[in-house]
Amino acid sequence: MTDRPKPLPQLAGVNAYVPGEAPKYTGGPSYKLASNENPLGASPKAKAVHVEMAGKLDIYPDGTAKDLKAAIAKKHGLDPNRLVVGAGSDEIFLMLGRAYLGPGDESICTAHAFAIYAIIAQQQGSTVVEVAEKSFTADVDAILAAVTPRTKIVWLANPNNPTGTYLPYDEVKRLHAGLPSNVLLVLDGAYAEFVRKNDYASGIELASQFENVMMTRTFSKLYGLAGLRVGWGYAPAHIVDAIERVRMPFNVNLAAQAVAIAALEDEAFVEASLAHNDRELVRLAGELRALGLDVIDGVGNFCVAKFPETKGKTAAEALAYMKERGVTVRGLGGYKMPNHLRVSVGTVEANNAALKLLKEFLGK
Ligand SMILES: *Cc1c(COP(=O)(O)O)cnc(C)c1O
Repeated sequence: MTDRPKPLPQLAGVNAYVPGEAPKYTGGPSYKLASNENPLGASPKAKAVHVEMAGKLDIYPDGTAKDLKAAIAKKHGLDPNRLVVGAGSDEIFLMLGRAYLGPGDESICTAHAFAIYAIIAQQQGSTVVEVAEKSFTADVDAILAAVTPRTKIVWLANPNNPTGTYLPYDEVKRLHAGLPSNVLLVLDGAYAEFVRKNDYASGIELASQFENVMMTRTFSKLYGLAGLRVGWGYAPAHIVDAIERVRMPFNVNLAAQAVAIAALEDEAFVEASLAHNDRELVRLAGELRALGLDVIDGVGNFCVAKFPETKGKTAAEALAYMKERGVTVRGLGGYKMPNHLRVSVGTVEANNAALKLLKEFLGK
């Protein structure tokens, strides 16, 4: 065989990301509860700005995203010079990987961490060290015990996806305090806004104070802009500088920048979204428990339920049963949780449809 172009050897070990499945069309209503999207959609004000942007498609975006950074800084009381924006927070993780990870380096994530961290670390030819969790929750001592002279990054989604669990801020501070100063702690706050716990904080304060902490947020979940791809991060100046060196010049597109600003400013929509999640998360978890399922106490916008291993009642069979009937939820086999399913908080109708199907499936 003639010689062919060969991709970098480390790519052989990369398991490409598997996104949540779109619902199957059944003729009746169908619902996607598989990607933690906002069930109320996006802010009407944000949508109006998106329509307006159709008139400007010929113009390059502002590569520095000055107005978007100003809006984020104002909203959260931050220094705009320490902000970075990305095409989703995924792109921020990618830029961190490009800036900090290479062959021979290690980064640490927990056993059921968000998949993107490992994908990026492997793409860079670096090694991912997975540490055990306790009750599906990050274990600070286990993370600290895994640090070696090769460790460059500790990735922590807080709350985590897909487990939905979180570390109280004291524990995050203890984690940070135990890390060598050359190890970057990445605090992924994709679900930060949903958390209603007095002992929780996203880590803005740590990122403001220390040279080795970055906190990230996204417009994909609470703000309902998953399709537009906007995320942001807050970090010390030297990390912002490193990211600027790997960032593509126009990484956040023109419409995304303008629409994200409008979304940030629409407080009524955000409040309605949070109020909906508060109500439906509790209801969904309660109803899943009432079906006899073991539910992990999550604080995001999704519930994780454990299914029996008896044939006919398994998570894989429940997933297929629901999909066939128009509701997709997320199977967690890829997250080493093959007996669990993750159900995003949907509209009342969507949640009812999911619960009804599960009730039928379980024969309750
Ligand atoms: C959804 C999610 C994100 C957000 O990704 P975007 O690229 O901003 O859409 C980040 N981290 C976690 C843990 C998530 O679940």
